Amino acid sequence: MPNSLTFDELKTLVKKGSVDTVLVCFVDMQGRLMGKRFHGVNFIDFSYNETHCCNYLLATDLEMATPDGYASTSWETGYGDYVMKPDLSTIRPLPWLEGTVMVLCDILDHNTHEPISHSPRAILKNQIKRLKAMGIEAKMATELEFFLFEKSFEQIRKDGFQNLQPISGYNEDYHIFQTTKEESIMRPIRNHLFDAGLPIENSKGEAEAGQEELNIRYSPALDCADYHTIAKHAIKEISWQQGHAVSFLPKWHKDRVGSSSHVHQSLWKDDESIFYDKLKPHGMSDLMKHYMAGLIKYAPEYTYFLAPYVNSYKRFSKGTFAPTKTVWSIDNRTAGFRLCGENTVGVRVECRIGGSDLNPYLAQSVMLAAGIKGIEENLVLSSATTGDIYEDSKAADIPQSLRLATENLRNSDFLREALGDDVVDHYTRAAEWEQEEFDRVITDWEIARGFERA
Ligand code: ADP
Repeated sequence: MPNSLTFDELKTLVKKGSVDTVLVCFVDMQGRLMGKRFHGVNFIDFSYNETHCCNYLLATDLEMATPDGYASTSWETGYGDYVMKPDLSTIRPLPWLEGTVMVLCDILDHNTHEPISHSPRAILKNQIKRLKAMGIEAKMATELEFFLFEKSFEQIRKDGFQNLQPISGYNEDYHIFQTTKEESIMRPIRNHLFDAGLPIENSKGEAEAGQEELNIRYSPALDCADYHTIAKHAIKEISWQQGHAVSFLPKWHKDRVGSSSHVHQSLWKDDESIFYDKLKPHGMSDLMKHYMAGLIKYAPEYTYFLAPYVNSYKRFSKGTFAPTKTVWSIDNRTAGFRLCGENTVGVRVECRIGGSDLNPYLAQSVMLAAGIKGIEENLVLSSATTGDIYEDSKAADIPQSLRLATENLRNSDFLREALGDDVVDHYTRAAEWEQEEFDRVITDWEIARGFERA
């Protein structure tokens, strides 16, 4: 990771007193930072080597419930510990928090010190290893879309999440005046993240009132996922510091456009893109075509990792720039996969299926696995679709519910081969639990519709 602090530099900063707090973090199943705040002196003297956390943290939901049905942990086994092993190449300042740096950890078994297979960072590292064995490096960029709100998280919670008002009154897509009004939040987000060592490209207004996007320059896959996670966390913290709520829920209002996280992907060898072949149509190499054919063929099986909640599926609706079909097209924003940078060295595929709620480690892992499978199977890429793909009745649908995506995941031989049965079973249980929890509740819509009239 560029511009991170070395451990020796951290030691000097702690001894000088300019750093007193080290956030020791790992990434959970939902893509959130979890961990502990160490005193700087304790970290540089002892805890840099390892610390511990309860193993329920990789078997819980957004609300920290302890669902049954996980093989890795349970009440019966007493919810023991994992080792949090700091990856000292990820130490970085967090300039929006005084005297504070952070480090990301890998999660290891408490006894064997082997990586925990369902840990998101371990899953991505495994796919990167598979590519490395082929002499290939993946470079990715995940775009972060989100909504800014007038009120704070605390006020909105007290108000029961009712009458949510986004920070602006109109669609602010590429809008300079409206985004100027949001600079008290967005400028510190860009600059603090840049100073934390993230290669920030830009932020821009998006296609709905109160919607912003942050772009980070494409990077090797693990860096990209680390950047996404740190940036999402920073966006929440910096907005909170400014008294505003921010939401990465993919669809917070039925009549508003949703938020996505498009994933741009290309493969490289010896610092040259092997997706580019200037002699081939659109500049797409044969390898790129096999990779994209794999992405498309296996999309229904890995959609869960791009859309992990009940709400995620509400985003896939016509005429909102969110796709509904698993086909590809050339620079056409109505398809699940868009060819970008046609006929240039920057030729790449953008997957538009993922929502702003995806876990970038998991999303990148399954797409790399699908691309590798496409290369291994020499899959033939169908021809590009054209026109308004929402209306193309012949094009295959993205799974339309969490229930369907979960069944596809459970029955996916391809994912079982690429990730391992234990990993697929673990995430299938997470998906089932999410649906079970939703099925238990009575929604506002049901009450309003049927209370009097049923
Ligand atoms: P858009 O029109 O989708 O906003 P951009 O030109 O802003 O397109 O690029 C979107 C993302 O694609 C950026 O984060 C950029 O860093 C990334 N990107 C550019 N080239 C490549 C590449 N060769 N491989 C992967 N990502 C890339």
